[in-house]
Amino acid sequence: MKLYVATGNAHKIREISEILPDFEVVAENPGDVEENAPDFTGNAFIKVRAVASRHPGCWCMADDSGLEVSALGGEPGVRSARYAGEPGDTAANNRLLLEKLDGVSERGARFVCAIALVSPDGKEFSVSGECPGRIVSELTGSRGFGYDPLFVPDGRERTFAELSAGEKNAVSHRGRALAAMRKLLGECAG
Ligand code: IMP
Repeated sequence: MKLYVATGNAHKIREISEILPDFEVVAENPGDVEENAPDFTGNAFIKVRAVASRHPGCWCMADDSGLEVSALGGEPGVRSARYAGEPGDTAANNRLLLEKLDGVSERGARFVCAIALVSPDGKEFSVSGECPGRIVSELTGSRGFGYDPLFVPDGRERTFAELSAGEKNAVSHRGRALAAMRKLLGECAG
């Protein structure tokens, strides 16, 4: 089954294709939409609606995700991609996060992923997934993307950037949200 995914992020497409191997995942940049919703689900719907309007009669999905750090009141949250300003810069975002947590001993955080889905007959659905963990004090590991080198999921001693793709997908926010989406698609699409 073909699934249009509203993203320009090649890392996300790779993870989604790995987790949903039985789907033909087609990446489609949602274009110049303003992601101005107050939460991840709202932003996922903004992106998926832009793509669904171009592909009526098809399954379309968007993921909106980010990192919430307890000691920072949930920052960077929906601003994760552009935490250090426009345009989004991963190295600058990671640097800023480390600066803000300098000397802070409470390092709890969680990744959140919201997925919005539009069915061929235009119905809308959403699911989400979370991955609790903590922020380490220096960049560690070279895999993955974004804040991966700073995040150790609960139950592990290594950052997401040190885990294999399979290990990350098994516990990640995106892996969990996509598992819920797969179940939903199974129920809706048979
Ligand atoms: P989005 O493309 O608007 O959903 O922005 C997501 C941002 O959150 C990314 O640019 C990353 O900074 C961060 N993020 C989301 N998921 C992950 C992940 O799995 N690993 C590391 N960073 C992530």
